Amino acid sequence: RAMSSITVQPPKCLQKTFVAPRRHMFGPGPSNVPPRILAAGAEPIIGHMHPEMLEIMSDIKSGIQYAFQTQNNMTIAVSGTGHTAMECAIFNAVEPGEGVLTAVNGIWGERAAEMAERIGARVNSIVTTAGGYFTSEEIDRALAKHKPVLFFLTHGESSTGVVHPLDGIGDICHKHNCLFLVDCVASMGGAPLHMDKQGIDILYSGSQKVLNAPPGTAPISFSERACQKVFNRKTKPVSFFLDMTWLANYWGCDGKPARIYHHTAPVSAFYSLRESLAILAEQGLENSWRRHKEVAEYFHEGLENMGLKLFVKDKNARLPTVTTIVAPPGYDWKEITSYIMKNHNLEISGGLGPSVGQVLRVGLMGGNSSKASVDMVLEALRDALRYCHKSKV
Ligand code: PMP
Repeated sequence: RAMSSITVQPPKCLQKTFVAPRRHMFGPGPSNVPPRILAAGAEPIIGHMHPEMLEIMSDIKSGIQYAFQTQNNMTIAVSGTGHTAMECAIFNAVEPGEGVLTAVNGIWGERAAEMAERIGARVNSIVTTAGGYFTSEEIDRALAKHKPVLFFLTHGESSTGVVHPLDGIGDICHKHNCLFLVDCVASMGGAPLHMDKQGIDILYSGSQKVLNAPPGTAPISFSERACQKVFNRKTKPVSFFLDMTWLANYWGCDGKPARIYHHTAPVSAFYSLRESLAILAEQGLENSWRRHKEVAEYFHEGLENMGLKLFVKDKNARLPTVTTIVAPPGYDWKEITSYIMKNHNLEISGGLGPSVGQVLRVGLMGGNSSKASVDMVLEALRDALRYCHKSKV
């Protein structure tokens, strides 16, 4: 028998057929992907530069412009998750030595600060307690003091369950000659947002929350003011993959006749993203905002009727997509989430960053935002509180 050159044998584990579990994805993301979007992603692969693909990218661009409520030409989807879009925004808008101010009322402002530090920016943060948000006066004062070129704010703080007011902040940033960067990964489609009217200069989101597409693509848009800065840099952005000069051409946003190969687009992920944006357009953005609000209010009422407390006291500041519930006293929150996964096949999660140990988080996004889902979560919680161990304190 001829000697084999193989020293590592084919793994036994790969001989088993794989079937993904069916679960109710009611954590802060990813959310369930409906059959129509899964089916779009299962279509045959075509080349990433074929005319049909360029048309799909153009459709995606229009869909994002609608979801963001923007006319910005510089609107694309980054090949990567929400974090990729975050880095794309910061790496392109900021040069080493420039100032960045981040608003920290949860984990996302902390992460944005770390990303900016890594590229050698001068970073300052304003910080408030988990569950809180900032007044326009606080932001105005901090901008006057630190004079950053970029101000980062999270619209939907998924780690604390807060939706941050946006009106007026764009004007304040522009008064201080500063770009306004907003994270809407957890809020887009689920809470009112008007990129152009609200003077947002860079806005990014993700595919796996309200859009109900698989994780792995991330909408992002740059205003004319942002483009002025991004395309007049003295230094090249640290990332080749996220360089907007390349991506603008790749997405046909730079007015040049020829598209140059930059990277191989995640073709199937773009099919799914296109379908998810088509569904949002069919349903209507305002209907989606309204439904998320009504379902969240129905959920909050049900929780309070069970004797549970909401983590965000100010009703108007409650994020309609991700609800934070004060961790029930006397219980181990991990036992509750495991019990619900095991017995109800349903994902809810604990806290993240500053809210760890303090809250349970429930995300009802896109197709999951329905009264039927709320009833399922309330039933699961009721059951868990009955059967999980409670200490006698
Ligand atoms: N920002 C917010 C507000 C988020 O909720 C998330 C996802 N939890 C992200 C950014 C990061 O997105 P991703 O996990 O897709 O990288």
